[in-house]
Amino acid sequence: MTSSSETQQQAPAPSEIRQQWQDLADQIRENSSLYYTGQPVISDAEYDKLFRALQDLEQQWPDLAVPDSPTQQVGASVETPADGEVFEPVEHLQRLYSLDNVFDEAELRDWLTRTPASAYLTELKIDGLSIDLVYESGRLVRAATRGDGRVGENVTANARTIADIPHEITATEGLDIPDVLEVRGEVYISLEEFERINADRVEAGQKPFANPRNAAAGSLRQKNVEEVAKRRLSMICHGIGHIEGWRPQSQHAAYEALAAWGFHVSPYTKQVHSAEEVVKQMLYWGEHRHDAEHEMDGLVVKVDDLAEQRALGATSRAPRWAIAYKYPPEEVTTDLLDIRVSIGRTGRATPYAVMKPVFVAGSTVEMATLHNPSEVRRKGVLIGDRVTIRKAGEVIPEVLGPVADVRDGSEREFIYPTLCPECGTRLAPSKEGDADWRCPNTRYCPGQLRRRVEFLASRSGFDIENLGERGAADLIHRGVLDDESLLFDLTEEDLLESEVYTTASRKSLSANGKKLLANIEAAKDKELWRVLVSLSIRHVGPTVARTLAQKFGSMDALRSATREEISAIDGVGEIIGNSVADWFQVDWHREVVERWTKAGVRMADEVTNRPEQVLEGMTVVVTGSLEGFTRDSAKEAIISRGGKAASSVSKKTDYVVVGENAGSKATKAEELGLTILDEEGFIRLLDLGRV
Ligand code: NAD
Repeated sequence: MTSSSETQQQAPAPSEIRQQWQDLADQIRENSSLYYTGQPVISDAEYDKLFRALQDLEQQWPDLAVPDSPTQQVGASVETPADGEVFEPVEHLQRLYSLDNVFDEAELRDWLTRTPASAYLTELKIDGLSIDLVYESGRLVRAATRGDGRVGENVTANARTIADIPHEITATEGLDIPDVLEVRGEVYISLEEFERINADRVEAGQKPFANPRNAAAGSLRQKNVEEVAKRRLSMICHGIGHIEGWRPQSQHAAYEALAAWGFHVSPYTKQVHSAEEVVKQMLYWGEHRHDAEHEMDGLVVKVDDLAEQRALGATSRAPRWAIAYKYPPEEVTTDLLDIRVSIGRTGRATPYAVMKPVFVAGSTVEMATLHNPSEVRRKGVLIGDRVTIRKAGEVIPEVLGPVADVRDGSEREFIYPTLCPECGTRLAPSKEGDADWRCPNTRYCPGQLRRRVEFLASRSGFDIENLGERGAADLIHRGVLDDESLLFDLTEEDLLESEVYTTASRKSLSANGKKLLANIEAAKDKELWRVLVSLSIRHVGPTVARTLAQKFGSMDALRSATREEISAIDGVGEIIGNSVADWFQVDWHREVVERWTKAGVRMADEVTNRPEQVLEGMTVVVTGSLEGFTRDSAKEAIISRGGKAASSVSKKTDYVVVGENAGSKATKAEELGLTILDEEGFIRLLDLGRV
């Protein structure tokens, strides 16, 4: 692809070149097979490099481009995935292709010069897995993965659980339903959902997914349909296949019709009319890579007119009328210098990787969590390894695995410490079978205490400015705070012991110290939910705390509630209910509450202000920015009226409030036909419980 045709040799390739070709083809086949069964060992960028090297070789020695070369094939044939599940193979009505890639602006411009068109579409390349849907007379009859482009896996039952895939489409004005309609799209998991799933998996002691694409692929290719439904998968259409009874003129006209029939098409697609505009889009999305709700690894450029597409045709692997511009990798390799263990606020001992600093996706990374000991084993990393790491969007940096080929024998296994690195207490799982180990010295372990104090001072807790990481560490280290029960009893004299809150001479409080005392005083009068969050009860974050405060109104009422009463609350459930009830069983926990009460912390919300429970049983989603509410105050307004403030839109959502610059949630709400409100409507809803 990169060499010009003049450099092509017509003579057969010599044996050392053949050997080189064979080595590359073997590596590509092996990695491809690992990748399509969900266990890649090299990064996509490294794979792309191998693939490009093979293409270059074949460009120079065309006799090497045999039909079974990886450059002539799409994906991988249907194989048994790692977990052993098997799906019925099905033949596609029309072939599915892959895409050719370009990796820099010059290559993109070359392609545009070679491929003139009356108009182009630029689309985001969604990082998920392809799906092929067949509708007969408007009814979904089959869904299949791409497989090798001719034969895929039948995943119809699973696909039916995806809200974006209509089971039936109905005619709209001027658009009859085609007799047969083959639609292609990408199944993916939104970044928000990916984080939710991984957090749940880690909490349940399971291994987290390496990235959203693996999570989507792993979810769609599962045998248990109910489990698939739990992972809220999404799908965006990006193509059409075999059609009977409809003849769209252009790709964008096809998308418009698909949208009218109820399919999800990408809001980011743009029709442009010149090479310059294509390049502009490519540069724009390079800067805004993380603005989309899904991961993307490139920009797909397509010739828009379908007659022009047909005239250009396809190679054995990819259409000539489309190209994928791949952005520089967000996966890089670096050295794993050490694996250490950090102690969290609830005592959890979390191994984390210490790496040689490396720049990836906009920032320098030198640490990444490894979640738990079994995750370290699963990733198979050794201290001293070269490792692949990735950081995508808001997703935290993550070690994917070792580059095992470059090991020299000096690497060593990580041995999980038996003692807490902060206080020396023996670590143990809190109950049998737990993947996580914890430090049981919950009250006094300085590591746990530091994290708890930092957390209670954070914006989710009492919101005490000036009590950050450094301040908390100083107060604990100097014995000013033995535990958090003493926080509200702190005096000027106590603070004089510290370094962070005193002047250089250490004789008087610094401005910072004075502010701290004032802020602690002010914190005594905060809402009950903030007090609850600040107690560091497992699973009780701001949303649950608001719900509990709303239901019980006071600390006393919550403390005397039974675990059944707490668990029965909508949005709480058994796990959280047990966690709250268990928390109150511990003597020193009750002591914290008592000392805070004595020091004047308000332990009840003022009931007189309690609004009428007009939203009882309703779920409301707020998206975009509103004039009269912050994100938090809108949530609070909903919860305080007995409603549930959800963060994602589903069929169960009763109202969706759409503010300025609302993104995909608003589009989804429209597609699902939900009731959409503007700010005025929201205020009415808060008042009356209806609109
Ligand atoms: P691809 O992912 O580069 O491109 C083709 C696919 O893009 C299509 O099949 C389609 O599903 C998808 N796509 C997303 N958005 C689209 C849009 N808007 N329009 C059209 N299609 C869109 O190609 P591939 O053949 O699926 O896989 C090759 C890629 O997979 C490599 O470039 C590499 O990144 C990765 N891979 C990695 C390894 C590894 O070991 N890490 C191994 C094999 C493949």
